Amino acid sequence: MTKSANPVYLIGAGPGDPDLLTMKAYRLLQQADVIVYDLLVSDEILALTNPDAMRIFAGKAARNHHMLQEDINKLLVQLAGQHERVVRLKGGDPFIFGRGSEEALYLAAHDIAFEIVPGITAAGGCSAYAGIPLTHRNLSRAVQFITGHSMRGKSIDDDLNWETLSDPGTTLVIYMGLINAETISKRLIAAGRPENTPVAVIQSGTTSAQRVLLTQLDRLKEDVDNSDISSPALMIMGEVVGLTHKLKWFSPGTAPEEKRQ
Ligand code: SAH
Repeated sequence: MTKSANPVYLIGAGPGDPDLLTMKAYRLLQQADVIVYDLLVSDEILALTNPDAMRIFAGKAARNHHMLQEDINKLLVQLAGQHERVVRLKGGDPFIFGRGSEEALYLAAHDIAFEIVPGITAAGGCSAYAGIPLTHRNLSRAVQFITGHSMRGKSIDDDLNWETLSDPGTTLVIYMGLINAETISKRLIAAGRPENTPVAVIQSGTTSAQRVLLTQLDRLKEDVDNSDISSPALMIMGEVVGLTHKLKWFSPGTAPEEKRQ
């Protein structure tokens, strides 16, 4: 079988601020015939898409990931056979905890061509808009992106190799970790991370609803519980978090463009 002529575009929408879309993403969204999008794609970004495009919401409930992912895969194959310009639009970057690779593998297995358009991942967006560099000379030599969401039926305790996360000279960025905050802080402290390691929990980073909770590792669970921080939220851990006091520049509620005027 030959590959389909029209590729399915797996596009990263970035973390929320529409200005963080790439030029390529923007162009393809304007030309799309059909757009299959996720919960994390903001309304402001959808407003920039071709008004005549068919829009299909592929929102997923966390517990039903498996079933629904299979349905999304099948839907993309079906749409590729029916439309010229099919876009699969995902929050952040499609290849970072976005299951874009699973969708691409499924398309490949069905001889459907695809292209991947990278997006700014939550780590990059939240880091910039919270004024927390992920690396900084003498403070952090490396960054690890981690999923704090356990696989179905498995505990997060067994999912992660905690020893490899213990180096205080490495910044940790934890996606989907809010509900496992207690386990994460206990296991990291047990593995050797100092109890007073600074932690930032960033909700809806880069958007006008961005909120940042500053805490430390041993108080993480308590402070999260006492706040009304909710999903989508990203945790950044490490000495670099302290730099936010000097580098914070973004005032949520004011888009960066407006702020400059
Ligand atoms: N592919 C996406 C990640 C999808 S996993 C990316 O590259 O960013 C979903 C998780 O991403 C959320 O639970 C949250 O931890 C994080 N996330 C995505 N957008 C975010 C945002 N604007 N602010 C904070 N966290 C975000």
